[in-house]
Amino acid sequence: MKVIVLGAGIIGIHTAWYLLDQGHDVVVVDRQPDAALETSFANGAQISVCFCEPWANAGAPFKVAKWLLKDDAPLLFRPRLDPAQWRWGLSFLGQCTTAAFERNVEQLVRLGRYSHESLQALVAETGIQYNRLQKGILHFFGSEADFEAGAQGAEIMRRHGVDRRVLSRDEVLAIEPALRSAQHAVFGGTYTPSDESGDARVFTQALAKLAERRGAQFLWNHDIVTLQPQGDEVAGVQVQSRETGQTQWLKGDAYVVALASYAPGLTKSLGEHLNIYPAKGYSATLRLKRPEQASSVSLLDDARKIAISRLGDFVRIAGTAELVGLDTSLDSPTSKVRCESLVRRYEELFPGVADLSEPNYWTGLRPSTPTNVPYIGRSQKASNLWINAGHGTLGWTHGAGSGRALAELMSGKRPDLDFGFYGDALPARAVRSLQAA
Ligand SMILES: Cc1cc2nc3c(=O)[nH]c(=O)nc-3n(C[C@H](O)[C@H](O)[C@H](O)COP(=O)(O)OP(=O)(O)OC[C@H]3O[C@@H](n4cnc5c(N)ncnc54)[C@H](O)[C@@H]3O)c2cc1C
Repeated sequence: MKVIVLGAGIIGIHTAWYLLDQGHDVVVVDRQPDAALETSFANGAQISVCFCEPWANAGAPFKVAKWLLKDDAPLLFRPRLDPAQWRWGLSFLGQCTTAAFERNVEQLVRLGRYSHESLQALVAETGIQYNRLQKGILHFFGSEADFEAGAQGAEIMRRHGVDRRVLSRDEVLAIEPALRSAQHAVFGGTYTPSDESGDARVFTQALAKLAERRGAQFLWNHDIVTLQPQGDEVAGVQVQSRETGQTQWLKGDAYVVALASYAPGLTKSLGEHLNIYPAKGYSATLRLKRPEQASSVSLLDDARKIAISRLGDFVRIAGTAELVGLDTSLDSPTSKVRCESLVRRYEELFPGVADLSEPNYWTGLRPSTPTNVPYIGRSQKASNLWINAGHGTLGWTHGAGSGRALAELMSGKRPDLDFGFYGDALPARAVRSLQAA
């Protein structure tokens, strides 16, 4: 079958890869000149299977209200005249119950495990180098109250079969000696030894190159304009070259929407309303002046809700979220505050370790669903349209598994994953389209 994959981020590229595995012809379209140049470009780098709690929990509304007016709050909600934002916000509130939290965690842990297994096999198969560190993730807390809450969180995750250990300050410092310079900020911690870190952009771009060698075609610098419905199917997708302005219709047997926060904009013309809203985040990447004094275990700093990951001779500090629509600007006063606070915090924790003179700031839009659970499966409006979008804070963690599962569903197979796939992912229908190809 000929499959047109729309979007070349982590999710689109993994989907393309596994579609090749299933024997399909693959065309990938993206408006950028290479893979992973938008949300997948400079994220927190964590493969965070065991730290995957959704934002929505029983305490979240109180916390968000407390943060409403703080420019450097970890989650900033700026109410706008934007129906999508309100719809998302109301659904999010609906998920702020203990029962919904447990249900969502279960889904995220299952997808995370399956994805981690898939990524490990993919790395072994391809040999891609991407500054991978298999040293776990260490979450440290600055106060006793936060530490107690973290220990309770660890208990909940252990009920879902996750190995998250509760550590005293001395145990934290034994696992990451570089934190000795930050003892004042460490009361205790939790640690997940099986988690990892690595550069998502480097990995995704390398995988795209290998996919091309295996026969995938890439149409770069093309805006995806619209889908053409025909009966209960999509008959084509209109794309426009950014270089020449020329438009053309691409036709396939099946289509995959892997457009992250831009997915709802494309599917709404079919009447398919995906509840994905962008949560703007930031990162700063700094060159290390004293790499020997920098951390190498990937860290989560609870006080600031930021991730700190070592990428070779660089360190990436990432985090914070703003619900402000499709805004990718970096020059607003709020963006400036948020970027600078990442660097300031790093310097507080690890004084003199990084070169602060040329911070590389970046912003990306996490494609967030109210549950944090992504849409993976068949469109409810067109039988040959498939969705792989809405991976929020965990797209790197869930990329390999999401791509593999969708490729299997599209090939009429049932993935070995107990997960709430979107839409009517009936193998029988997929088998029919495969047989017709
Ligand atoms: C600050 C921050 C930190 C993060 N940290 C982590 C982390 O530590 N671990 C983790 O697992 N996840 C993390 N994430 C989340 C992760 O980065 C995302 O979930 C992931 O990148 C989403 O991948 P994607 O392929 O869906 O989106 P994208 O990478 O954005 O891919 C979508 C593609 O669609 C293309 N596109 C969109 N619209 C059009 C159009 N109309 N025409 C043509 N092309 C189009 C874009 O160019 C883009 O290439 C973080 C995110 C942020 C913002």
